[in-house]
Amino acid sequence: MLLITCPVTRTDELVADRRIRSVANHPTHLALSVECPACGSVHVYRTGRRWESRPAAAPARPAAELARA
Ligand SMILES: [Zn+2]
Repeated sequence: MLLITCPVTRTDELVADRRIRSVANHPTHLALSVECPACGSVHVYRTGRRWESRPAAAPARPAAELARA
C-alpha cells in the first residue's frame, strides 16, 4: 500500500500496489506512476532515499504508519 496526496482533489489516498502502473529507477529516487483512486488519472510520485527529506507537501503521518503500509 502507498499513501499519496492527489494534486487534483488534494485529499490523501491509500493506494493498493496493483494501482502502481510503473516504477522508474533514478539515481536519487524512484518514480512511481500511480493510478489515482480519487480522480482516476495517473500521477507520478517520487519515493526512495529522498522520501524522508521531501518538503512539507508530504502528508503528516507518523513514520511507523508509513512503514507498515
Ligand atoms: Zn488524483
